[in-house]
Amino acid sequence: MSSLTERVREAAMEAGADLVGFAPIARFDGAPPELNPRTIYPPTKTVVAVATRHLRGALKAVEEGTYWQAYNCDNYWYLNEVVAPQILRRVSLTLEEDGFVGVPVHNPFHPHSGRQIRDDQPDGPDGMVSLRIIGVAAGLGELGMSKLLLTPQFGPRQRVFAVLTNAELEPTPLLEEPVCDGCLSCARECEACAIGDTRDVTFTIEGRQFGHAPFDASACAKVHRGDDPRFSPFWNGTEAEGEQPSYSRFLQHRFRHLATCVGRGCLRACLDHLEKTGRLERKYNTPFIERPRWKLNEPPARPNADP
Ligand code: SF4
Ligand code: SF4
Repeated sequence: MSSLTERVREAAMEAGADLVGFAPIARFDGAPPELNPRTIYPPTKTVVAVATRHLRGALKAVEEGTYWQAYNCDNYWYLNEVVAPQILRRVSLTLEEDGFVGVPVHNPFHPHSGRQIRDDQPDGPDGMVSLRIIGVAAGLGELGMSKLLLTPQFGPRQRVFAVLTNAELEPTPLLEEPVCDGCLSCARECEACAIGDTRDVTFTIEGRQFGHAPFDASACAKVHRGDDPRFSPFWNGTEAEGEQPSYSRFLQHRFRHLATCVGRGCLRACLDHLEKTGRLERKYNTPFIERPRWKLNEPPARPNADP
């Protein structure tokens, strides 16, 4: 019979995972308490990381400036709410069959929302972890300057989920060769100027240093959600003051998510760079970016706006 590690890997892959890795909990010894997997499941011995790739075509449609629903449905809602629960459930059940506990960790978070229950907890429920750092600790990849997880197979093009278990599984080695070459396409092409240009934010796992550039989450959020009319095609100038474009309301209602930027710098420019420089294992027949990138002119004037 194959080892439990192999059976967990097979269960995850059969359920739809593209990548699977195993991080012993000691790899999180340096993590801040509020981001430590132990805050969700204190007896954790292994963190199982699974990654599911984004559809490249859904990113391509945004790159062409033609279609946003595929990203918001397939790469966000479907991965988070359909594929991930299936994978996490299969992994957790595989662990349960051998008598172990598997706690599935979903995305997104509403972190540390409740009041503390026990004295030995660092904070109240729901706890939080960094799924990107879990991806690094489980050997799936490294963080790029952009702070996204980059893998040798897909670059920045995946989502990561996790199962915390009290089983001791065979560790996956940390990634040896870097994927990010520091080209800074991510920072140059980010309309929000949210990504810095030096790898100043660092952390260490088993003596290896990983890191990313400083990241301005609030600057990103406005452009990411399409709240800045300069960078969203969905403002048509008829919106009242304080009102979102109707398309933004549609996306949020239909897919419970609102991605308009779709990683112009951090995801799409990075992917194109890594593919064109031959740094990824996956090869395609046509380049990701094939013509000059779209960029909007001045935003449309709002009705009743001052001249
Ligand atoms: S765009 Fe370049 S610098 Fe930025 S994360 Fe990707 S490879 Fe690294
Ligand atoms: S999602 Fe868009 S705004 Fe946010 S960091 Fe990426 S490129 Fe910049």
